Amino acid sequence: MTKYKLEYIWLDGYTPTPNLRGKTQIKEFESFPTLEQLPLWGFDGSSTMQAEGRSSDCVLKPVAVYPDPARTNGALVMCEVMMPDGVTPHASNSRGTILDDPDTWFGFEQEYFFYKNGRPLGFPESGYPAPQGPYYTGVGFRNVGDVAREIVEEHLDQCLAAGINHEGINAEVAKGQWEFQIFGKGSRKAADEIWMARYLLLRLTEKYGIDIEFHCKPLGDTDWNGSGMHANFSTKYMREVGGKEYFEALMKAFEKNRADHIAVYGPDNHMRLTGKHETASIDTFSYGVADRGASIRVPHSFINNGYKGYLEDRRPNSQGDPYQIASQILKTISEVPTAAKKAAA
Ligand code: ADP
Ligand code: MN
Ligand code: MN
Ligand code: MN
Repeated sequence: MTKYKLEYIWLDGYTPTPNLRGKTQIKEFESFPTLEQLPLWGFDGSSTMQAEGRSSDCVLKPVAVYPDPARTNGALVMCEVMMPDGVTPHASNSRGTILDDPDTWFGFEQEYFFYKNGRPLGFPESGYPAPQGPYYTGVGFRNVGDVAREIVEEHLDQCLAAGINHEGINAEVAKGQWEFQIFGKGSRKAADEIWMARYLLLRLTEKYGIDIEFHCKPLGDTDWNGSGMHANFSTKYMREVGGKEYFEALMKAFEKNRADHIAVYGPDNHMRLTGKHETASIDTFSYGVADRGASIRVPHSFINNGYKGYLEDRRPNSQGDPYQIASQILKTISEVPTAAKKAAA
């Protein structure tokens, strides 16, 4: 038997966006534990905005497990928060609201800033570095500094070792700003992995004395880009049947539900969705082929394949909860009849 360090990780009850929480329990297993082997656990919900002091127990239900790349015999255990009965999802449990569909695929592009001493890493003590331009996908000390890439590489290695499906990384438009992309088949998979990758990034940067700023517009109303979390999505129907008529009906539904989407696409998004810096206005819905100024960008490949494939919703921001984002996208898609459903009606 081996003693494993199990880091149970969950989302707290803070609004508008939850924070990651985690605590460790040690348990013995013959080999690396499967999800089924991991017991329910509990925590004090009164300290995380999830319960009143008088009856404060909440239940942690493991829903995904990853090897912990930074600990000997460690496991990272993603959990849903349940009521004391262990079966009713807690009100803060946004993962529990996602329609479970193994054939829905999501790809999230997580942008973020490194922050040190209250400003983006690489910014001078007062004023600004050279205007943005050379930083996006840049190389060299002048553009990326001396520590950001080291962290980004270490984070990438940790994520890959944990089995997280990173698809890529890049330096972003603002100095100190970076991005990673995660793709997953199954409506919850990429969202689980985004939260786990955020956890690993936050934990890794502790030793550097660097914070991760997920706010979508940390530099406010300036000429510095904000941070997004573009959500690329496709269902089996979109990939295999699709068609112009279905696409147009889908876009109508997205337009009708605009406010519901914006409500879960991350806080302060009005600061970012201004129509500037490759964004669309928060108050209108638009789509366009290869249009980075639209709410939804339609890739060239989508049109070339006869309106089949994936779409990119560019509105979600870097601080958004990917569970709530995935949930709302699937909800809107489910309102649009497919050819089969229409024939049956
Ligand atoms: P860009 O920065 O040009 O928007 P990225 O390469 O950063 O492009 O992100 C594109 C994303 O689209 C990737 O995360 C990828 O996983 C995702 N993606 C590709 N094909 C599909 C698909 N069929 N369904 C859902 N997401 C997809
Ligand atoms: Mn990208
Ligand atoms: Mn980007
Ligand atoms: Mn994108």
